[in-house]
Amino acid sequence: MSDTWNTRTKLVHGGTRRSQYGEMAEAIFMTQGFAYESAEAAEARFIQAGEDEFIYARYGNPTVRMFEDRMAGIEGAEAAFATASGMAAVNGALMSLLRAGDHLVSARALFGSCLYIVEDILPRFGVEVTLVDGTDIEAWRAAIRPDTKAVFLESLSNPTLELIDIKAVCDLAHAVGAQVVVDNVFATPIFSRAFDLGADVVVYSTTKHVDGQGRCLGGVVLGRAEYIRKVLEPYLKHTGGAMSPFNAWVMLKGLETLDLRVRAMSESAHKIAHALAGHNKLARVIYPHLSGHPQHALALRDMEQGGTVLSLDIHGGQEAAFRVLNALQIFTISNNLGDAKSIITHPATTTHQRLDVAQRDALGITPGLIRVSVGLEDVGDLLADLETALAAA
Ligand SMILES: *Cc1c(COP(=O)(O)O)cnc(C)c1O
Repeated sequence: MSDTWNTRTKLVHGGTRRSQYGEMAEAIFMTQGFAYESAEAAEARFIQAGEDEFIYARYGNPTVRMFEDRMAGIEGAEAAFATASGMAAVNGALMSLLRAGDHLVSARALFGSCLYIVEDILPRFGVEVTLVDGTDIEAWRAAIRPDTKAVFLESLSNPTLELIDIKAVCDLAHAVGAQVVVDNVFATPIFSRAFDLGADVVVYSTTKHVDGQGRCLGGVVLGRAEYIRKVLEPYLKHTGGAMSPFNAWVMLKGLETLDLRVRAMSESAHKIAHALAGHNKLARVIYPHLSGHPQHALALRDMEQGGTVLSLDIHGGQEAAFRVLNALQIFTISNNLGDAKSIITHPATTTHQRLDVAQRDALGITPGLIRVSVGLEDVGDLLADLETALAAA
């Protein structure tokens, strides 16, 4: 892969490894292990595996390596490690960095399972965690201490789409030598600028836009070679969070069309947000590139487009929200996002049900809030579906 290639080219060709058959499509090396020519060769490989040498699929596999190299290429990262799911990636990134006695500062508005890791799991192992309102830079300044080891945040929060000023947080963290880990799902690899803005480690659930067709779980951690090879890889390869070669192949094929899909979905999301802004059934339309968004200027600075998700706050609370969900014909009630199929989610009763009312209020997750993941269908059909359903509210 050439560093001078642009993203579209890297998405199609990056990381490709051909076998002796010269296959056009990436091969699925559906193998757990690898045979050695001799006992001496096995010994040598265990001492130091070469670039094209593998030992065991939990450590690495040619199809998985293609996916890792392609992801690293498009993000401009030195190295990547692919995982069985987005949560294996988040858990691996944080657990490998932190140990008992360390201090972590994290944004409070997190994907439910991420919140479980920082609030429940890490403290069990003696990690001290401080949660902050991620949009308040003074809160970060107050929480980050000389002994802070790492900082964790989602670049764009779920489901209220609040942006965090990654650059400002990185400046504060780096001043005390802390590593910044960014869960970048909502920004997508296409609109992400997390590494440019200073992030040390970037994590994706590739279940979302990278697969983009609702088939496989997957995740990836990206960062400097020193961190990926010496800190993260030993943790993940011995704890079993490896990605399946089959899933890596699905993800590779997903990457080929990622730029096209994400841009088309994002353009539709923007059109829908713009068309629904000010609708009399809606208290709020939340979309980063809409001028009323509280961090609109930051969204324009850090994101080339507004992303594929918007949220709507419907007058009339849960009852009205449920009526809208049940009236939709094209949008499917589910909880994935970044999929070719448009998906509608009621966070308060599903993805964020575990939180109590006070916690949901603090995060802006009102009973009338619905999250809209815009897919690849015709945008006119999607808008008509939403407008008809809103009339039912
Ligand atoms: C979905 C998601 C995850 C978890 O990914 P899985 O692939 O479901 O394990 C983590 N963080 C964010 C922001 C997500 O949207």
